[in-house]
Amino acid sequence: MITVENLTKSFPGEKTPVLALRDVSIEVSAGALYGVLGPSGAGKSTLARCVALREKPDRGTVRLDGLNVARLDGRRLREVRRQVAALDAHPPLRAERTVAGNIAEPLERLGVDGPQRRSRVGRVLDLTGLTQRAAQLPGELTEGQRRRVGLARALAAGPAVLLADDPTAGIDQDDAAGVLTVLDRARAELGVTVLLTTQDSSVVRRACDEVGVLEQGRLVEQGSVLGLITDP
Ligand code: ADP
Ligand code: ADP
Repeated sequence: MITVENLTKSFPGEKTPVLALRDVSIEVSAGALYGVLGPSGAGKSTLARCVALREKPDRGTVRLDGLNVARLDGRRLREVRRQVAALDAHPPLRAERTVAGNIAEPLERLGVDGPQRRSRVGRVLDLTGLTQRAAQLPGELTEGQRRRVGLARALAAGPAVLLADDPTAGIDQDDAAGVLTVLDRARAELGVTVLLTTQDSSVVRRACDEVGVLEQGRLVEQGSVLGLITDP
């Protein structure tokens, strides 16, 4: 479970500081697919980056399974950070390595041995529908398939939490549906808790069970998707 309490974060602006998050509190149940919805500049990425331990809030706490991450020392922080995968919208894939090779790369860096790598890569290839593409090079893939390689790569090490910052930006409806299917399978089959940010309420409606709505750095609504977002 992810608990965010009274998170405040500002950035230096031209004249006055920009308040990206103002006293934001959210609770994400373990195994949920939680959507952070809001227009551009609302603070969605900043919230995701704070939860992913990639950004330090000015005030407030982030708890992962009850653990206050601000209290962790360097080594424990690195361990916990490994549990929280952040998905890149444009994953920096290596052109000369195969799909499987790109997915295996983070595991190689972690020192996971060969047989384990093969088993984990096989599992996420299946989850992302890329088994038939394992031996191809990124240049031979469609944009939608490349996005799914990025997802497979983020999931390979078995994170507890996946942060998907605007995962459907810049792709067509079919590719977006493919990405959302993978997020749903990651939750259902791997037990991953997913935090997704988007400007698109139809993405939240299709993929998420809980939603928090951000406007100008403030959480203006939170609850079940069924209760908050109805069909137009
Ligand atoms: P969203 O993801 O909803 O588009 P962001 O979290 O990216 O919103 O940004 C929220 C606000 O914080 C915006 O006004 C943005 O310009 C500002 N901001 C975000 N990151 C930085 C940064 N590194 N430096 C300065 N301002 C930033
Ligand atoms: P590259 O040629 O890009 O370096 P490799 O053949 O070295 O790719 O494979 C990288 C990793 O992916 C290895 O750890 C290998 O075990 C794993 N791998 C390759 N093909 C598959 C597959 N079809 N299913 C599961 N794992 C695979």
